[in-house]
Amino acid sequence: MTDLGQAAASDDPAAMAACRIPDRYRAAVVLAADQRVFAGVSPSQRDPRQTLRVAHVPTPELAHGEVLIAVMASSINYNTVWSAMFDPVSTFRFLNALGRISASAARHDQPYHVVGSDAAGVVLRVGPGVTRWRPGQEIVTHCLYTSLTDHAGHDDALRDPDQRAWGYETNFGGLAEVALVQATQLMPKPAHLTWEEAACLNLTLSTAYRQLVSAHGAAMKQGDRVLIWGACGGLGGYATQLVLNGGGIPICVVSSDEKAALCRRRGAELVINRKDFEFWDPDGNPRKRNWSRFRDAVRDLGGGDPEIVFEHPGRETFGVSVLTAARAGTIVTCASTSGYEHVYDNRHLWMHVKRIIGSHCANYDEAWKANDLVIRGRIHPVLSRTYPLDRVADAASSVRANTHLGKLGVLCLAPKEGLGIRDERKRERHLDQITLFQRDC
Ligand code: NAP
Repeated sequence: MTDLGQAAASDDPAAMAACRIPDRYRAAVVLAADQRVFAGVSPSQRDPRQTLRVAHVPTPELAHGEVLIAVMASSINYNTVWSAMFDPVSTFRFLNALGRISASAARHDQPYHVVGSDAAGVVLRVGPGVTRWRPGQEIVTHCLYTSLTDHAGHDDALRDPDQRAWGYETNFGGLAEVALVQATQLMPKPAHLTWEEAACLNLTLSTAYRQLVSAHGAAMKQGDRVLIWGACGGLGGYATQLVLNGGGIPICVVSSDEKAALCRRRGAELVINRKDFEFWDPDGNPRKRNWSRFRDAVRDLGGGDPEIVFEHPGRETFGVSVLTAARAGTIVTCASTSGYEHVYDNRHLWMHVKRIIGSHCANYDEAWKANDLVIRGRIHPVLSRTYPLDRVADAASSVRANTHLGKLGVLCLAPKEGLGIRDERKRERHLDQITLFQRDC
């Protein structure tokens, strides 16, 4: 075990910060050499276990404005599944493009890609120009990586043409013992959570926050009915909490009775099992009658049509979402898991003056506000299971197969689950909510 590993085992941030920085560290990687592994294999048949590996990689040099962190825990985001499947593109294309920007950015262009876009851990070293953070501080990460050299980014960082998702469109991500971040990615770790709980929030929570709450998204109001696809998944798990917190009415869509029961235990009364509706026939043609049946089933729950539809499954559901949204309602989308070429009947959009909003990630202010809700005990992690780093591929494969619930954590330097809690009293107050998904798994 390295010095850093020993210090991490004692869960002592000051001792970790005092450690020598290791020359190499363990990380979840995909390899450029594997890019052709799935040639001719349809995306639906690709399994991350074939390409996501754990390897020792060299520790990168720190540059201006950067911070080296010790990662106690991380979590699986769907973008790691995309990286491991080389779908829809190989993420080495992103590293290659980033590497061409400057001598410093060239560090990212490697034959391996350290993936992962969430982390909870400890600041180890800060680079020149970093004044806000110091070694030993306990942090979580936000995945937005921007240069902010373009004027548009100063209005909203998502408008910066140089914005990237850390650990997906950059190297040195969070599924590793050590990670390299921009200082602006750091936020304080919620003191009442374990490392693995703290690591499973930010990417999906901040994305859901922008989609639903922010003025850049649907700007949800009290009383709004919000249809949430995948309400027991990563994004949907946090969207449900945001809607309940904000005085909205969630209409949760899930694929099993067990998940429906979990939604109800979380305080969501209106739930639909999507398995009762086949939206497409085996030849890929839309079953429009079932689209209408779904809309009618939502109406039958009472309370009217949803003012907001929280979209991410994409092709399989988008037409249903456009149909089901209320007049003047909003469909807010951040993804297309089932396919990005959507089919919908445009008459339902224009005649009923609905609108579609594209949303992506979250700017730093949105991410900070979302993290603040966690710190104040208003939003809780939807962690269901935690894997050791060595089994990261099994965790990603479970997300790929949709056999998981909520979020899956990954222990990196933390030797076991349950470490990192600094505020026991606050934890005790919210324990039922914090552990809801873990108990259900
Ligand atoms: P997740 O944890 O796998 O949850 C997705 C949920 O969607 C599943 O729990 C599943 O629930 C439901 N689902 C899956 N396939 C479906 C289908 N064909 N029709 C309807 N529902 C379906 O994933 P996630 O973390 O929430 O991410 C979802 C997508 O958003 C991914 O494509 C991811 O890459 C993307 N994303 C984008 C951003 C961004 O910034 N743009 C950020 C985060 C995530 P049931 O089976 O219970 O229905």
